[in-house]
Amino acid sequence: MTLEDDAREYHRADPPGKIEIATTKPTNTQRDLSLAYSPGVAAPCRDIADEPTLAYEYTAKGNLVGVVSNGSAVLGLGDIGAQASKPVMEGKGVLFKRFADIDVFDVELDIADPDAFVQSVAAMGPTFGGINLEDIKAPECFEIEHKLRERMDIPVFHDDQHGTAIISGAALLNAVDVADKELSSLEVTFAGAGAAATATARFYVSLGIPRENITMCDIDGILSERRADAGELNEYTEPFARGVEDGSLEDAMEGADVFVGLSVGGIVSQEMVQSMADNPIIFAMANPDPEITYEDAKSARDDTVIMATGRSDYPNQVNNVLGFPFIFRGALDVRATEINEAMKRAAAEALANLARQDVPDAVVKAYGDEPLQFGPDYLIPKPLDQRVLYEVTPAVAKAAMDSGSARLERDLDEYREELEA
Ligand code: NAP
Ligand code: MG
Repeated sequence: MTLEDDAREYHRADPPGKIEIATTKPTNTQRDLSLAYSPGVAAPCRDIADEPTLAYEYTAKGNLVGVVSNGSAVLGLGDIGAQASKPVMEGKGVLFKRFADIDVFDVELDIADPDAFVQSVAAMGPTFGGINLEDIKAPECFEIEHKLRERMDIPVFHDDQHGTAIISGAALLNAVDVADKELSSLEVTFAGAGAAATATARFYVSLGIPRENITMCDIDGILSERRADAGELNEYTEPFARGVEDGSLEDAMEGADVFVGLSVGGIVSQEMVQSMADNPIIFAMANPDPEITYEDAKSARDDTVIMATGRSDYPNQVNNVLGFPFIFRGALDVRATEINEAMKRAAAEALANLARQDVPDAVVKAYGDEPLQFGPDYLIPKPLDQRVLYEVTPAVAKAAMDSGSARLERDLDEYREELEA
C-alpha cells in the first residue's frame, strides 16, 4: 500500500475522522444530569454573566483552541476550499492534543471575504481560549490576523506565518554560533515573499538582523525600490524593498551568509550555493521538496554548509509542531491576551538553548539511534523530545507575564513541576 492509500484507510477507519468529544464529569445518575444541564447549569451561567472570567473556571474555554481555516492555502494543495481542508484541521487538533494536551474544535469556514471571515471568527471569542488561524492565503492572512488580534482578547496566531519564523529563528540563533558568524552582520537572502517568508523576515529583524541586510525575492526576483515605486509590492513586502538594481535570486545569493527558502522546490543550484559566503547557512524550507536538496547543498562546497529543511528524513527539520502546542500551552495557562513578540522570542530562545543540552537516550532511540549532538546537523530539538514541553512552555508563560499580556500570575517553579507531572 502506498502512503496515500494508508492515509485514506487511517481516516476512514470507524469512526471516520481523527477526533471526538469526550465528557469530563460524571453522567451516571439523574442528579449528575441535572448538574450537567438544566436546571443546575443555570448557576454557573448566572455567575459567568456577573463575572465573565469565571468562564475559565466553569467551562472548557481555557484549554480549548479554535483551529480556523477557509481552506484557501492548504499545505501545498492551494485553494481547495473549506470542506476539503477539514482533515488538515482535524490533524492540527491531533497534534495540539498529543503534544500539549490542548483540546481543539476545528472550524472550517466557507468564507473568502476577509471582512466576513473576521466577523465570524471574532464572534467565536466566547467559545475559545485561543485561535490558531491555519492555511489562509496571503495577502488576506495578514489583514485577517491583524484585525482579529485587535478585536479579540484571546491569543490569535497564524501558525503558517509565525510557526516557521520561530522554529527557523531558533535554528538560526544556533547556526550563527556554529558557523562563527554574528547576527548583526549577517547578509540574508530570502526566496519567497509570501506568508511564511515575510513573517520570518520580520521575526529575524526582531532577533537582531539589520533589516537592510535582508534581500527578499519573489517569483520576479529581488524586491527593489524600483518595483516598490512601480506599485508591484504590497504593504507587507514593501518594507523589504532594497535600494539595489533589479536582479534575480541568483544575484541575491552571491556573497550571502544565509539563504532562507520559503518558496518552491528545486530553484537553487549548487553554483548558487558556491557563490555564497564562507560556511553558509541554508534553510531550504519549501515543502515537500526543498529549494535545494540536503545532499546537493552539502556537497556543493568543501567548507561547512549548515542545512535545514522542512523534511523529517534529514537533519534539522523545521517543523511547526516544535512551536504551536507549547506556545499555546504557555499562553493559555496564564490566560494571555495575545501571543506577542516577547513570547515568540522566548519560544525561539528556549528551543535554541534546549538543542545545546545533552539529549536523553529515549529521544535518541526514538530517532533510530542517530547521534544527536549540538552542531551543524542538530540545531533544534526533535519534536518527540518531552523536554520541549518543559522548557518552551514555561518560557512562553514567563514572557507573557513579564510583557504584561498575562491575566494570571503563576509561580514558574510550580508550573514547571505541574508540566512534568
Ligand atoms: P505563499 O504565501 O504562497 O508564498 C510563496 C512565495 O514564493 C511567493 O512570494 C512567491 O512569489 C514565491 N515564489 C514562487 N516561486 C518562486 C520562485 N521561483 N522564486 C522565488 N520565489 C518564488 O506560501 P507560504 O505559505 O509562504 O509558503 C511558502 C513555502 O514555504 C511552501 O513551500 C511551504 O510549504 C513552505 N513552508 C514551510 C514551512 C516549514 O518548513 N515549517 C512552514 C511554512 C511554509 P510571488 O508572490 O511572486 O508569487
Ligand atoms: Mg499550515
